[in-house]
Amino acid sequence: MYNRKYNFSPGPAVLPLPVLEKAREDIISFRGSGIGVLEMSHRSKDFDKMYEEVIERFKGFMNIGDNYDIIFMGGGASSQFYLIPMNFLPRERTADYIVTGTWAKKAVKEARLFGNVNIASSSEDRNFSYLPKNHTFSKDPAYIHITSNNTIYGTQWGEYPEIHGTPVVCDMSSDILCKKIDFNAFDLIYAGAQKNIGPAGVTVVIIKNSFLERASADNPTMALYRTHVEKKSVFNTPPVFGIYIINEVLNWMIENGGLSAIEEKNRNKAGMVYGMMDKYPDFYRGHAEKDSRSLMNITFRLPSEDLEAKFIKEATSLDLMGLKGHRSVGGIRVSIYNAFPEDGVEKLVQFMKDFRDNN
Ligand SMILES: *Cc1c(COP(=O)(O)O)cnc(C)c1O
Repeated sequence: MYNRKYNFSPGPAVLPLPVLEKAREDIISFRGSGIGVLEMSHRSKDFDKMYEEVIERFKGFMNIGDNYDIIFMGGGASSQFYLIPMNFLPRERTADYIVTGTWAKKAVKEARLFGNVNIASSSEDRNFSYLPKNHTFSKDPAYIHITSNNTIYGTQWGEYPEIHGTPVVCDMSSDILCKKIDFNAFDLIYAGAQKNIGPAGVTVVIIKNSFLERASADNPTMALYRTHVEKKSVFNTPPVFGIYIINEVLNWMIENGGLSAIEEKNRNKAGMVYGMMDKYPDFYRGHAEKDSRSLMNITFRLPSEDLEAKFIKEATSLDLMGLKGHRSVGGIRVSIYNAFPEDGVEKLVQFMKDFRDNN
C-alpha cells in the first residue's frame, strides 16, 4: 500500500507501521483535541498525560520503582558522553570505562576532560569483535561505564560483568528494551531513541535517586541532571514529538505481548541470520565472536569486497535496504531492531542462501 521497503538501517531505523499511521492522525489533531502533537504546548494537560503514560510504560517494562527518575533530553546519546562525567566525575576522582567499541571510546574522550579515566578492559586488540571477560577496576571509581550493545561491531552483553558497590552507567542506545534484563542493576541508563524506540532528537535518561544525590551542583543549569529531574523534563521545551513517538512505540510493544514476546521475536530473527551464517561460515564470515553476538546488529564479511558490493546491490534491488557495514568493520551489517518485521528477515535469509549458491 505504501511501497515501504525493508529498512535494515542502523539508525535512525525502522519504526512500527501502526505507530506511524497513528502519528499521521495525531500530527493533525492529537487524540482528537484539535491541536496537532507538533503544535502542542509542553505545559498542556495533554502533554502531562502523555508524559505520565510514557514514564509508567518504561517503569513497567523495566520493572523499576520510584527510586528511579526518567527524563528526556536533546543532544543525542553523544551529549551524555560529557554530561555524565560533568555531573558524576570530580576532577580528582577516577571513572572506569569498559571499552568495547567506537561509542565507548568517544565516551572516554569526553570523560578525560573532567577527571581520570581507567580503561578497565578493552577489546580493541581484535577490532572489538568480542566482549572482554577480565576487567581491572580501580580502587574506588566514581562509576563504571559500559556499552550494552556495540552497534558498529555487532556485539552485545549477555551476562554483564559482576559489579558490586560501584555505580554502573550504561549506554543502551542500540538495544534498550530488546530483551529482559535486570535494569535495577544500573544507576544510570541512557539511550538515544533513534535505534530501538523512537525517532532521532530525543535521548532517554533513567537515573537512580541515590546516584543523582552524588551529582555535582555547579554546572550550567541545562547541564545538571537535577534540573531536568526536578522539572520533569520541562525546564525548557523538551523534544515533544520524540517523546510522543516513544510513548506510541512502547504502547505498540504492550499490544504485541510485552517485553518477553519482543525478546522471543528478536531471538528468532537474529537466530535466522546467524543460522545462515553458521551454515556457510566460509562465505558469511561473522565479525563478532559467537559468545558475544548481538541480537540487534549482525556483522559479517564476504570472501571479497567485490562480492560485498554485489551483495548490497542485489539486496537493494530486492528492497532490502541499508545493509552496508560501518567503515570500521566493512562488509555487511544487518540491523534488526524491535520494529523490524520477521518477514523481512525471512526474505533476507532466503536471499543470503540464493546469493551464496549463485556465487
Ligand atoms: C548511535 C549510538 C550513539 C550515538 O548516538 P547519537 O544520538 O547520534 O549521539 C551512542 N552510543 C551507541 C551505543 C550508539 O549506537
